[in-house]
Amino acid sequence: MHQDQNVTATVGHLIAGQRVTDSARTQPVFDPATGLSHRSVALAGKATVEQAIASAQAAFPAWRATPPLKRARVMSRLKVLLEEHADTIAALITAEHGKVLADAHGELQRGIENVEYASYAPELLKGEHSRNVGPGIDSWSEFQPLGVTAGITPFNFPAMVPLWMWPMAVVCGNSFVLKPSERDPSSALFIAELALQAGLPPGVLNVVNGDKEAVDTLLTDPRVKAVSFVGSTPIAEAVYATGCAHGKRVQALGGAKNHAVVMPDADIANAVSAMMGAAYGSCGERCMAVPLVVAVGEATADAMVAGLSAEIAKMKVGPGTDNGNDMGPLVTKPHFEKVKGYVDQGVAEGATLVVDGRSIRVPGHEEGYYLGPCLFDHVRPGMRIYQEEIFGPVLGVVRVASLQEAMALIDAHEYGNGTCIFTRDGEAARYFSDHIEVGMVGVNVPLPVPVAYHSFGGWKRSLFGDLHAYGPDAVRFYTKRKTITQRWPSAGLREGAVFSFPSSR
Ligand code: NAD
Repeated sequence: MHQDQNVTATVGHLIAGQRVTDSARTQPVFDPATGLSHRSVALAGKATVEQAIASAQAAFPAWRATPPLKRARVMSRLKVLLEEHADTIAALITAEHGKVLADAHGELQRGIENVEYASYAPELLKGEHSRNVGPGIDSWSEFQPLGVTAGITPFNFPAMVPLWMWPMAVVCGNSFVLKPSERDPSSALFIAELALQAGLPPGVLNVVNGDKEAVDTLLTDPRVKAVSFVGSTPIAEAVYATGCAHGKRVQALGGAKNHAVVMPDADIANAVSAMMGAAYGSCGERCMAVPLVVAVGEATADAMVAGLSAEIAKMKVGPGTDNGNDMGPLVTKPHFEKVKGYVDQGVAEGATLVVDGRSIRVPGHEEGYYLGPCLFDHVRPGMRIYQEEIFGPVLGVVRVASLQEAMALIDAHEYGNGTCIFTRDGEAARYFSDHIEVGMVGVNVPLPVPVAYHSFGGWKRSLFGDLHAYGPDAVRFYTKRKTITQRWPSAGLREGAVFSFPSSR
């Protein structure tokens, strides 16, 4: 199949290995660089989602019985196909999300690493064995698949976040229904079709595009045993509550407001460059973006503001298809309006707008959703621009007097996804990493996104559930432990009836 044949005017669903277009409801998908729409996405109704669940359920028994090594080989082949089609996938991401192509390739590469990790399935699923737990008795724990599992994913990593989920779910022997973001649905569907080419049996992975109706069907259908969600905190919380109320295992990763502490002894030039990518990469639309600098001491704050302003002046903003650009547009017009509104709000709240990106014009792309990088100084807790997730190219500097004050701010914030500290002081870094109430911590590393063989997850209102995404936690999330205790009675070990509780006394 030629790769471009996968891109159709209406992005539909993939059910039992077939393209299905449920066109009762559709909505346009926009190119954020131009504001134009070249395609629409089908929004699945309840019946279509139920069809996808039925397809996953039908595929489950044979897939569960497939040896883990054979399941893993599908992942090895998929890795190769993803690498071969990387340019097409990156182009699909950029056309619908807006991020620059190099960034789209970066996201895909991190997704491929999850596929690579999933290809270690036989090792990951080996279980635990103990011989002679009692006379002639052996005991072992094995990790069995759950059945039909589901994933609901956000717009900001349209290829990577689905790859956090379904490869691990299916190598563990489950079948899966994926509901990608309706704002940029094409790359996830394209990748699902590559999985078919890689040898994944039809029905093991199904994709339904849609909105709340599709999500509600997945959350309430008794055939779905577990749901992974990544998105904003209000929806994550609602998904967690509804899924749990319907007896499902749920992990729901939510929003973030990550702080970077800059200590007076930090290498300021390094901290400035690190913050540029962390704040403005992908237009700030990353859950591990860092929209707040907490500068310890006035001199540190002054140096950071001066360094950041100088670097921002060099930034190039324009369409993501031009790799000379550092930053593309925001994802949609409503999101653009929302982020711009936060900049207005910050000014009204009394923060100092040092760099104002609101009036940027990109020649030839006047209808694109471009907002230039914005920098606020003197941001204070209590301001909405401090408290709320903006998810745009807006960086705020908060001035504090000590590390303790910085840490108290971070700990008091509702989100606890990621944080980092810039310092040359090992003791301060160690104290910070040890005590901060945040799930992922960087030391002179601004975006501490764990690699595929660790797991990803925040604390507080950045994650609802017990287990983190991908990596070793994913094996536990997508399996249930069964412990088997076995004895084969033999002549010397036969015993009569025993009425006391069996123990090793
Ligand atoms: P979102 O919450 O709007 O949407 C996420 C998913 O939920 C989409 O598939 C969407 O169709 C669905 N959805 C939206 N409204 C719904 C509703 N009312 N009922 C049921 N389902 C609904 O999030 P988004 O704007 O696509 O993504 C950005 C958000 O995701 C940010 O808050 C960001 O921090 C977060 N995010 C978190 C992580 C993480 O790992 N913690 C990673 C990436 C993104």
